[in-house]
Amino acid sequence: MFAQFALHERLLKAVEELKFTEPTPVQAAAIPLALEGKDLRVIAQTGSGKTAAFVLPMLNRLLGNGSSKARVSVRALILLPTRELAQQTLKEVERFAQYTFLKGGLITGGEDFKVQAAMLRKIDIVIGTPGRLIEHANAGNLLFDDVEVLVLDEADRMLDMGFAEDVQRLAEMCGREHQTLLFSATSGGAGLREVVAKVLRDPEHLQL
Ligand code: AMP
Repeated sequence: MFAQFALHERLLKAVEELKFTEPTPVQAAAIPLALEGKDLRVIAQTGSGKTAAFVLPMLNRLLGNGSSKARVSVRALILLPTRELAQQTLKEVERFAQYTFLKGGLITGGEDFKVQAAMLRKIDIVIGTPGRLIEHANAGNLLFDDVEVLVLDEADRMLDMGFAEDVQRLAEMCGREHQTLLFSATSGGAGLREVVAKVLRDPEHLQL
């Protein structure tokens, strides 16, 4: 039952609408810890339901922290290795956020830079690939001070694609109090261990 989690009623309404009845193992393990505000390092496969395992606690945190606050800048950042994965993740964010005021947007390569810069002023949650996000950060289009949740999804693949430095730079730019949720399909190598050590604070380790 999803109602066992201390999730905002608008999120539970979306979960019900989507006919998610029983949490998957990764959701059952990760959601309560993420709701406590802990940093997580999770090993879970695609198809395990890992997207909802980070999207629901992320939305819950944004809803809890000042639903009446006027949006200043981006409040959550989800980094993924490819445009296709970012598109799928945006769809999942939109489905769970359908009864909230929170808006997500896609920032990946291959799209008009100026259009994206304008969009960045209107969205709460950025879902994107590291390279294009660094370009926007360098152009001053993206402030990270208000980022409350950082998600690194498919972290092992992001590092394999050469994004290690970009990922670390983006993580360093995020607000001091932010929570980081890192997901990977494998335990990864030395590169991933370095990112885990540098980016996560006292993380819980879950392997599903
Ligand atoms: P993911 O591993 O996040 O890519 O999710 C795989 C698929 O399972 C997606 O289509 C989700 O919408 C779906 N899904 C995730 N969690 C649940 C759940 N608890 N109940 C039913 N479907 C789910």
